[in-house]
Amino acid sequence: MKPIYVTQPTLPPLTEFIPYLEQIWDNKILTNGGTFHQQLEQALCEYLGVKHLALFANGTIALITALQALRITGEVITTPYSFVATAHSLLWNGIKPVFVDIDPTTLNLDPDKIEAAITPQTTAIMPVHCYGYPCNVARIQDIADNYNLKVIYDAAHAFGVKDNNGGLLNHGDLSVLSFHATKVFNTFEGGAIVCPDEKTKRRIDHLKNFGFVDEVTVVAAGINGKMSEINAAFGLLQLKGIDDALAKRKMIDARYREGLKNVAEIRCTNVGKHSANYAYFPIFVEHNRDALYEKLKANNIFGRRYFYPLISDFPMYRGLPSAAQSNLPVARQMANEVICLPMYANLEPEQQNFIIELITTGEKNECK
Ligand SMILES: *Cc1c(COP(=O)(O)O)cnc(C)c1O
Repeated sequence: MKPIYVTQPTLPPLTEFIPYLEQIWDNKILTNGGTFHQQLEQALCEYLGVKHLALFANGTIALITALQALRITGEVITTPYSFVATAHSLLWNGIKPVFVDIDPTTLNLDPDKIEAAITPQTTAIMPVHCYGYPCNVARIQDIADNYNLKVIYDAAHAFGVKDNNGGLLNHGDLSVLSFHATKVFNTFEGGAIVCPDEKTKRRIDHLKNFGFVDEVTVVAAGINGKMSEINAAFGLLQLKGIDDALAKRKMIDARYREGLKNVAEIRCTNVGKHSANYAYFPIFVEHNRDALYEKLKANNIFGRRYFYPLISDFPMYRGLPSAAQSNLPVARQMANEVICLPMYANLEPEQQNFIIELITTGEKNECK
């Protein structure tokens, strides 16, 4: 059997991409906010139900720029249970990350633990909608309002996730998306900042283009964060198939849940059906997670232990007081138990059955 990885991009037929390339070759505009860039911003605003959105070359530069746009300094409260870019974006801005433990159900920042971590240096909260599961946005906003803090969501996993008020991405001061090849919606590499008003969008557009406002005016020490026309064109094409891809993911999610429901020592997540984009399928293995991980690997199934190790365990973070073992017990337990199983639109039912069988027929100490 061919290797099965945790994810695989959905690629439209190559012939469908050719007309986009022809248009780029005709226009000879390769980047700097060309037609496809404008069209994709517009199309994503409509699809995601957001007012303004600025495309970026990748999600990490978008995170770094979001922090710059709001002039965040000092300390920022964030989660250790995420991809390392979340905290790296803080370090790149000279900001001190302060890690707060997560809620065992949502796997996101535990709102009950945020206040205790606030100091006079705290200027913002950077929560992550981990696996696309919504944070408790109402509680987080309450705390932010009480202490006059900004909220920047790392929404890299949360493409298209809805909540009761429509788009989840409308919460906080800014939300940041990633369109990396491994994400639900991809532009090879790419990202975006969702912002509530035109003024903020303008500032972000300046920042992602070296700070240029016009030919001779530079208003900030900006960076080059622009998305190229080829990436934007691919995004437009990818967007046409996104609903179909999400529907397929939903079926795969249901099949895993059904197939694994009787395995006593494996927990699946339970965060409510309306609020998911089926971006990931994490399972939590109570004992001996790595034995199951290795067994899958030996059978050419490459699950990933997202998010192990915790960000707070990496060398540039582990000396921080908030990285202490005793501060993050829930995050640590989850990191020690998690395996993200293969999840992508074109995962075949036979492949999925094989994965489920491997898990359910394990020896007692491996997965029962
Ligand atoms: C993927 C990801 C990022 C980084 O996005 P890139 O587009 O790869 O730079 C940031 N945060 C989280 C939680 C991610 O999963």
